[in-house]
Amino acid sequence: VKRSGKNGFRFFDAELNAHHRQRVTLENDLHNALERNEFELHFQPQVSMAGRRVVGMEALLRWNHPLHGQIGPAVFIPVAEEMGLITDISRWVLDRSCHQLMRWRDSGHTDLRMSLNLSPHDFDRAGMVDEVLAAVTRYRIPPAQLELEITESMMMQDTEGAAAKVQALRAAGLGVAIDDFGTGYSSLSYLQKFPVSCLKIDRSFVGDLYGPALNPIISAITGIARGFGLQLIAEGVEQAEQVEVLRSLGCDVMQGYYFAHPAAAAEAEQWLQTPPCA
Ligand code: C2E
Ligand code: CA
Ligand code: CA
Ligand code: CA
Repeated sequence: VKRSGKNGFRFFDAELNAHHRQRVTLENDLHNALERNEFELHFQPQVSMAGRRVVGMEALLRWNHPLHGQIGPAVFIPVAEEMGLITDISRWVLDRSCHQLMRWRDSGHTDLRMSLNLSPHDFDRAGMVDEVLAAVTRYRIPPAQLELEITESMMMQDTEGAAAKVQALRAAGLGVAIDDFGTGYSSLSYLQKFPVSCLKIDRSFVGDLYGPALNPIISAITGIARGFGLQLIAEGVEQAEQVEVLRSLGCDVMQGYYFAHPAAAAEAEQWLQTPPCA
């Protein structure tokens, strides 16, 4: 705390209070957001360069706040986790993303895969695996076409319980991807405990492909994926040059602003007909 005179201190104090008030308001509003139907899923395409087509969509959550406009998940997911609201939000995301996939499958996109993000807290719940299985059954989705994205931090907490859930999901045929791969502190031994099916190369590695150390990192991750028989997706692809370098390093499926920003279902649907940047 800076004590730069009485006024400086008071100003700082007032700022803190304003921040606190904002936070309290956010929490109250978040409590009601689900029942007021303020959440929306956006979808970002995952493009296969070899096939020149959209092979998957990642569901990304948006909060349309009546006063503050659209709020991104990086702002409200951590608050929802602290408040214990994440369980209901994750259930909503699961239901809505499966529903959307069913609709796209019904309109002829029968191979499309849907990826959704889970919170580490979801893996604390005993019933979580059954809820996922119930959702794929409810919407008649082949389990292999639903992919759950988890983070390395989740793999480090309560390893035994979480690993058992990942094993159960994989045994039922679902896909499990490690998000932001390479940025956490997990070790390669986790790949034995957690039988995942896909690695997503974090965008921090893709963003600066010309940095001296980064091509070796991408090559190494490509090698790990090949060695373990895992799918590979590069995230955060923004430039044509990155597409070329990634392809030359053996990475075929890509996602990022170069292809498309995440968008609401009606817009995302067009990419199924005409792949972005093909
Ligand atoms: P993430 O899972 O790593 O998702 C990728 C984020 O990068 C998204 O931000 C996406 O809009 C953004 N992105 C995509 N392409 C590019 C690109 O080319 N360049 C850059 N700079 N960014 C790109 P978003 O939608 O704001 O989501 C942020 C994070 O919030 C996600 O990171 C994920 O961890 C979390 N999240 C999103 N939706 C959900 C959800 O339904 N449930 C949970 N638990 N977490 C979610
Ligand atoms: Ca993700
Ligand atoms: Ca990611
Ligand atoms: Ca992330």
